[in-house]
Amino acid sequence: MLPRRNQLQWAALLALAVVLPTVSLLWFMSRVIANERLVVRQKLAALYADKLNSATAETGFLFTNRLAVLGRPWPGNPYALVRGLVLEDRVQAVLLRDEAGIPVYPQPGLALGGDEPDQALAVARELELVRRQFAEAAEAYGRYTNDANLRVALEASLGRSRCLAKAGDLPGATAACRDAAFPAGAPGPAQLAVDHARLFLLSLLQRSAPDAAATDLRRRTVSALLDDLYASGAPSPRLAPSRNLFLARMLLEDVESMPPAELGSDATRIRRLQALVAAEDLALSVGEDSRIWTGPMDAVVPVREGEEAVYGLRHPSASGTILILLSPDGLAPLLAGYRESFAGTAAAYRVLDPGGRVVSGTAQARVAPFLAASLPEGFPGWKVELYFEGSDVFEQAARRQIAVYLWTGGLVIVLVLGAGVFAVRAVNRQLRLNAMKNDFIATVSHELKTPLASMRVLVDTLLEGRVRDEAQAQEYLRLTARENERLSRMIDNFLTFSRMERNKVAFSIGDISAEAVARDAVESVKTKLETHHCRLEVKIGDGLPPVRGDHDALVTVLVNLLDNACKYTGDDKQVELRIFAERGQVCFAVSDNGIGIARRHWRRIFDRFYQVDNSLARKAEGCGLGLSIVKFIVDAHRGTIEVDSRPGAGSTFTVRLPAGAADGR
Ligand code: ADP
Repeated sequence: MLPRRNQLQWAALLALAVVLPTVSLLWFMSRVIANERLVVRQKLAALYADKLNSATAETGFLFTNRLAVLGRPWPGNPYALVRGLVLEDRVQAVLLRDEAGIPVYPQPGLALGGDEPDQALAVARELELVRRQFAEAAEAYGRYTNDANLRVALEASLGRSRCLAKAGDLPGATAACRDAAFPAGAPGPAQLAVDHARLFLLSLLQRSAPDAAATDLRRRTVSALLDDLYASGAPSPRLAPSRNLFLARMLLEDVESMPPAELGSDATRIRRLQALVAAEDLALSVGEDSRIWTGPMDAVVPVREGEEAVYGLRHPSASGTILILLSPDGLAPLLAGYRESFAGTAAAYRVLDPGGRVVSGTAQARVAPFLAASLPEGFPGWKVELYFEGSDVFEQAARRQIAVYLWTGGLVIVLVLGAGVFAVRAVNRQLRLNAMKNDFIATVSHELKTPLASMRVLVDTLLEGRVRDEAQAQEYLRLTARENERLSRMIDNFLTFSRMERNKVAFSIGDISAEAVARDAVESVKTKLETHHCRLEVKIGDGLPPVRGDHDALVTVLVNLLDNACKYTGDDKQVELRIFAERGQVCFAVSDNGIGIARRHWRRIFDRFYQVDNSLARKAEGCGLGLSIVKFIVDAHRGTIEVDSRPGAGSTFTVRLPAGAADGR
């Protein structure tokens, strides 16, 4: 064995070879991981900064387009412009002022009713409104229903209808009103009277029985009114703006009570009317504040804060100044660039107005933004922020890369450790082999010395003639021959082993006789057995098939087994060799009544140099090679060898070899 100091040195060296690279690798990996986090953060931030810039550029582009639309000259009929902006472009309200600053749309000052009452109808009105004599009033109105002045005629029909209704004659009232609501010719300036009549007709129809004719008339009336309100077909409005709004409100109030089914295809037009009325209402309420006409042009500025925030954008055009009002919803088309750029990405955005109110994007950000930028020109004080929803995406992206590094690092460490373990085992094996070889040399020298010494003594005695008689001389010569034979066998074993080690053994396999093998083996050990007073019994079964093998090699197998059987038995030596056939195999069993082998040694006795008792003081000669040679030969014959033994009760070694063809002898 190697000295302990040497072993420790080896262990320290190996530990250094494994631990040093591992620790360096771990340190290196920790640096790489820290760097990776930084790099990923920078890469992602740069990527999103690019996206943000292009979205901002897109917003700028959309804004410029919008200004170009607003800069067009206005048509004579403002409703054409208002309808387009409110109904198509999601603008919440529109205000127009001419170059002198006079409001063009909407026009403040609401008219609640019709024009000044006509002198011709004064009597009838007196009867209706002051005296409340409705029958007389109806008659008085009736006198003018065919007046040459269409407006007077229409007013008279409407008044008559009113009075008939008040007098309780609903069908008469409806008929009279229908004449006024749907006059034969174009009403021209009397349009307002016609529309009043239509509104009144609606209220009459509401009260009358809901038959098919009434429903049809009602629908016709609504449709006709819708045609007149916010009418943009003609070069100028059909009704004065203030009347238009008043009538629109009245109509909306009326239709509220109508079942939606009755509106039919007009439902959409009603919704549009609602939007236009709401837009005009908003324009009127905001228009009262003169501040909205000051401040910068071409800039989106907050006009109304709070729940229903409104933003104003003023732009000069050839016809005057246009001011549009936009809700956050109305701003969405302008901010579409952000929505499109960040949809489907890990980042979320939000656009904040100068007051810090979220106008677009996710309302409530849970984490601080990782990037912020100003909106393009036209949005003074506005900004857009980017942040990640949920967990930190930088960390997530870095983690993926880090996992790759960790796996690679782990693999390298495992490889280094594996290589270390492999090296330790190889070195260990080498150390053990060295130790074994040293032991082997000591044993061999010891084993060779004994027969040589006894031969020398015997030969010297004979040479010096110190023998009593011829018989003693014969005895000495026989002893010399025995020692010689023992020496030869030992050297044979060494040589076989050496050839085995170098893989130089070549067997000539053929079908051979098991009996012949047994005979030659017994012949070879006979003298030795006799010398040791060892009784040998050979039992050969009948009708044995031939064995597939090499004759000389199999003789070596049996000689070694018989030799061991004799060596490892006490004074009363009994050895038995049995040969029998079993399941297509030929078996050689060598039994003795010797010292036996403990079970834990069974497997290892076939290892090279292994001896159960390896002290130099042991009685039996040998150096632990015999059984390893036997095993080598048996394996080469595709056979098996097994041992069965009990300490103190003897051992049986059984070799099983494949049988050859029965006639192959
Ligand atoms: P050796 O030269 O020592 O006999 P072997 O390889 O032939 O070497 O045997 C290995 C060891 O197995 C022996 O040292 C011995 O301890 C044990 N052994 C072999 N044959 C027998 C047997 N028949 N009875 C008891 N022990 C045996």
